[in-house]
Amino acid sequence: MAPKIGVLALQGAVAEHERALRDSGAEVRKVRRPAELEGLDGLVVPGGESTAMARLAAPVQLMPAIRHRLDEGMAVFGTCAGLILSADKVSDAEALVGFERIGGLGVVVRRNAYGSQVHSFEDDLEVTGLDSPLPAVFIRAPVIEEITSPSVEVLAEAHGHPVAVRHGRVLAASFHPELTPDYRLHQLFTDLSAG
Ligand code: GLN
Repeated sequence: MAPKIGVLALQGAVAEHERALRDSGAEVRKVRRPAELEGLDGLVVPGGESTAMARLAAPVQLMPAIRHRLDEGMAVFGTCAGLILSADKVSDAEALVGFERIGGLGVVVRRNAYGSQVHSFEDDLEVTGLDSPLPAVFIRAPVIEEITSPSVEVLAEAHGHPVAVRHGRVLAASFHPELTPDYRLHQLFTDLSAG
């Protein structure tokens, strides 16, 4: 049976993720309220603006609801801003103070930390489990500064930092896998959600 995967649709790159997930064989729905998490095998938290998403989620307490479902076994794929929301710690968290995030991914991230000259860039990544390089688009990407759990597996690196990681049922990337037509990371997540 096709796994049911939601895309957090408060802000950011929603339609592109929906397309990539459908292409990977998932049944897809948008998520804006806690009730819509019911029955999902996985959830994509897209790129966009982490502060905007945290603010929009607050009135309906969507972030703690996602964490609750994650603890129950739902898989989560955080990309770019979604990585920031999934990380256990944000080192420059001022703009997020007072707003709940999801957490659960044992890393420390810093927002917009690649520096102005490489604020947005593209790279071909060697990714564990993929047999050829994956094109990756980085847009004002967060840097994974530190890994804080021995259970975190680094799947890819660029510019000296991990850029794709897996921690149990949480997959995260600091780039935008939905913006290139190579959907192998979405396939990986669809398989993870189904398993
Ligand atoms: N800089 C953004 C943030 O802090 C993330 C950028 C992105 O998702 N492309 O949320």
